[in-house]
Amino acid sequence: MSCLIKNISIFLMTAFFLLKCSRDESNETTGEIMLPVIIKTESQLRDEEYKADSIYGKIRNLDDYWIAFKTIGETQYGYDFGEQEVEIFTDLTIASSDSNRDDAAGIAHGSCKEGIIKIAINADYWAEYSFNRRLILMWHEFGHDVLNAAHVSNERAIMNTPLPDEYDLEIFKKEEADLFSGKDLILFDCNDPYFN
Ligand SMILES: [Zn+2]
Repeated sequence: MSCLIKNISIFLMTAFFLLKCSRDESNETTGEIMLPVIIKTESQLRDEEYKADSIYGKIRNLDDYWIAFKTIGETQYGYDFGEQEVEIFTDLTIASSDSNRDDAAGIAHGSCKEGIIKIAINADYWAEYSFNRRLILMWHEFGHDVLNAAHVSNERAIMNTPLPDEYDLEIFKKEEADLFSGKDLILFDCNDPYFN
C-alpha cells in the first residue's frame, strides 16, 4: 500500500514538473509561432525598385550595363552611339590601382576615342556595391568614356567626384536625364595631348 502511495506521489510530482516545464516553455514563446523577421536595408529596398524597372532590371552582366545605357540614350535622348568596341573589365583592384588614382572605383580609358569603350572597374569596390551604386558608377564611367564628360563639382550629378553613394530611383532618373541632355556637363577638351 505504501508503495502505491509512493508511486502515485512520484507520478504526481513528475506530472507537476512536466506541467511546470511545459507552462514555462509556453510562456517563453507566448504560444505563437515565431516567423523569422527579415529586415531589409534601405539599400536593398532601393535595389528592388531598380530591378523592377524594365531596362535596369534586365542587367545581368557587365556588358548589359552598356546595352542599358545605349538603349536609354538612343530611345529616349536621340543619340546614335553606332557600333562600339566594348571592353569592360574588373581587373582593377585597390592594390593594383596606380598611386594617383588609388581610390578610383573605375577608370574610363576610351574618352575621346570614337568607337571604343574601355572601362576598368575596381573589383574590390564592385564586390561591395549595391546594384544601384554599380549603376551610378557605370553611368559615370560611360559619361567619361562615351559622352566625353569631365567631372563636375558643387552639383548633384552622376559626374560628381567623389561618386554619389546611392540615389533613390526617382533621383537617379532625373540625374540620368541631366547626363544625357548635357545639362551641367563639362566636356573634355579632346585636343588635349592627354587624350592623344
Ligand atoms: Zn570620374
